Amino acid sequence: MIELSHWFAPLSGVGWSQQGRNALAYTPQEDQAQALFARQLQSLGLRPRQDGWGNHYGLYHPPGVDPNTPAIAIGSHLDSTPAGGRFDGVLGVAAGLAVLARLQQSLEQDGPPLCRPLCLIAWRGEESSRFGISCIGSKGAAGLLTLEQCRAYADRLHPQHPMTLYEAVAPRRGPDPSPVAPGRVDTLLELHIEQGPTLAEAKRQHPSEPPPVGVVTQAIAGAIRERLTLPPNLPALHLARMLLSAHSVAGGLDCDRQRPFRLTVTPANRPPNVGRSRTRLQCRDQAQAQQLVAVARQRLKPHQPPHPSSITRRERQVIFSGPHSYHSGTQPMAHKERLDQILSAARALEALEQALPGAAQGIAWPDFSRHTEATILQLDWRAAHETQLTAGSAQVRREIEHYLHRHDIPADWSIISRTKPAAVTPEVAQRLLDAARQEGVPTLAMASGAGHDVQIPPHMQRGLLFVVSEANGVSHHHSEWTDMADAEVGVQVLTRTVLGMMRG
Ligand SMILES: [Zn+2]
Repeated sequence: MIELSHWFAPLSGVGWSQQGRNALAYTPQEDQAQALFARQLQSLGLRPRQDGWGNHYGLYHPPGVDPNTPAIAIGSHLDSTPAGGRFDGVLGVAAGLAVLARLQQSLEQDGPPLCRPLCLIAWRGEESSRFGISCIGSKGAAGLLTLEQCRAYADRLHPQHPMTLYEAVAPRRGPDPSPVAPGRVDTLLELHIEQGPTLAEAKRQHPSEPPPVGVVTQAIAGAIRERLTLPPNLPALHLARMLLSAHSVAGGLDCDRQRPFRLTVTPANRPPNVGRSRTRLQCRDQAQAQQLVAVARQRLKPHQPPHPSSITRRERQVIFSGPHSYHSGTQPMAHKERLDQILSAARALEALEQALPGAAQGIAWPDFSRHTEATILQLDWRAAHETQLTAGSAQVRREIEHYLHRHDIPADWSIISRTKPAAVTPEVAQRLLDAARQEGVPTLAMASGAGHDVQIPPHMQRGLLFVVSEANGVSHHHSEWTDMADAEVGVQVLTRTVLGMMRG
């Protein structure tokens, strides 16, 4: 049997260095990973195809199957965030290849005949870091995004020389039809790392059992992204207090594993969810900075482990750094605060002011100021249910507005983007649960707190399977980690599921 790592290791190596994996949407590194996937398809006897969005895919037709029968598809993405993790997306693409290899083997061993085709897909541009829009390849292939619309999205990481998404996609267009055009595929499956700590915790609680898998039984989160523009040079203490009150409202919302709710706040000049591994506070002078560091080290301790944020000082600047980007797949927001440098900085400011009233005056938060024009924050809400997303975000927004109103601070809100939560297909979830039981693998039913390609194409049956995510579930960071043995268990479950579906 060919191991998962045979497919995974070379794919995840593209763009990898000590700092993390750099294979951003529609860059030469993503091209390289896509080309490698195409060669891997060939090694399994499939003809690699490339659609009009540069997504590579391959179709496997078992002997005697009518080529017009709708296929089951397994797909994920090969792009990364800046300095991202190795497993996010890549593991799901590798899992598809591993499933097909096992399926071909079962045919050789005279297993029952298969009566449906299998399609393996590597989606382009799932991460929004570069162009500010997520799931580009799957949206394009599903007809939810046109090439013309791509002119509106510019490369945010190179604001001096912004290439538009149109210019990035145009030279990468392939000649083949969309893999998810009507009638071609009717079921989409994705295997992904959890991007949260729940499965890893369950694994540690039951060391004698096989590692668990997570089956999304209800929904995959939707998102609301908004921009909040405030006057220039707003004192950091105001921002801190506003964020802390928003945080306490968000943390008090009713949520659990099936109904996660998450708010992430990032500076406007950075893409949401990435590049936040450090934030800086600018003090009036060195003495104030020393005071802030001392209070922060003393007061923030309970929030540090298991990923201690480091608090350092450089002259007048106090820097909070550490792994941070955390798609809380399953957890209420409070679980993530230990990792959030922006919250740590806000807490440190509040602690300083509490300890010595007036001591935090004059501290600025340069990450949030755009030149001298404005103070800008991006807020990113995620929830797995539409009512929860709408009501929860409104409640937090009201709290922020209330704070701003009390302090007479004018504010301007604008919507950046909105994605609705997507339901998974109950029958598909049941098949995944049954397959896991037959393999003797423990399962956790959960919701996905992050968005995924599998939720994009409409009119599909869909299923999402999570495997253990170590490193406390940190994702989009070089410390992202999954043991290959745990991922192999996911592949076993997926293989059994797919075999069952392909046999009728
Ligand atoms: Zn992903």
